[in-house]
Amino acid sequence: MLEVRDLESCYGRIQALKGISLDVFKGELVALVGANGAGKTTFLRTLSGIQPMSAGQIRFAGRDLSRVRADRRVQAGICHSPEGRQVFGPLSIEDNLRLGAYLRPAGRVDEDLERVYAMFPVLREKRRLPAGTLSGGQQQMLAISRALMGRPRLLLLDEPSMGLAPLLVEEVFNVIRALKAQGITILLVEQNAFAALGIADRAYVLETGNIVLSGTGQDMIRNEQVRAAYLGM
Ligand code: ATP
Repeated sequence: MLEVRDLESCYGRIQALKGISLDVFKGELVALVGANGAGKTTFLRTLSGIQPMSAGQIRFAGRDLSRVRADRRVQAGICHSPEGRQVFGPLSIEDNLRLGAYLRPAGRVDEDLERVYAMFPVLREKRRLPAGTLSGGQQQMLAISRALMGRPRLLLLDEPSMGLAPLLVEEVFNVIRALKAQGITILLVEQNAFAALGIADRAYVLETGNIVLSGTGQDMIRNEQVRAAYLGM
């Protein structure tokens, strides 16, 4: 579904991505793990078209998206739940969700809202409140839900467990499992490598802008290098 080849991206003279090649097949949950500053967020932002690429190719569902605008990529089915959630604090929860659907046919939005509210009843209960009043865990659910409102074929999740208490981390991972069970293809960036590898079909390890390892989630958990560097074992 997603084929990335030799992708490069720079911030001025800093080359953050140095030729990334990676595949995500339909229905898969693929994890991307790596230390702070490895380039994980930059990679997702480059896929979404909000960070420019300087070389390489991004193909999605058979189409070359390398030079396609960010909003057209959303229309093609790539929806992004960004690092730090980035909800619009003063806007109501429902308005945040509607913003996620701004490219969807107007007649379909209410039905999509229902689907999201059925999954996250707390968002329905609080739908008229400013998003800024939600707890961290609820804001994370809102950020994921806002991405779901775009009806993703590929969902990009950047650090969904960041800053959450252990019980909420577990809840977030349960949500990710449920989304995969619904058939949504997912590319998950996580610093919580153990949990991410535990639910991933496949995984890639990113180090200073390069993919240094890839394999099934279970292979990665057993890999000595991964255990020493990312799992603290
Ligand atoms: P983290 O988990 O800390 O977000 P990451 O793996 O997502 O790390 P990136 O945020 O993609 O890494 O950063 C990759 C590299 O690009 C780092 O060297 C970082 O310092 C640099 N970088 C990221 N954003 C910018 C920016 N806006 N301007 C300049 N350099 C940046």
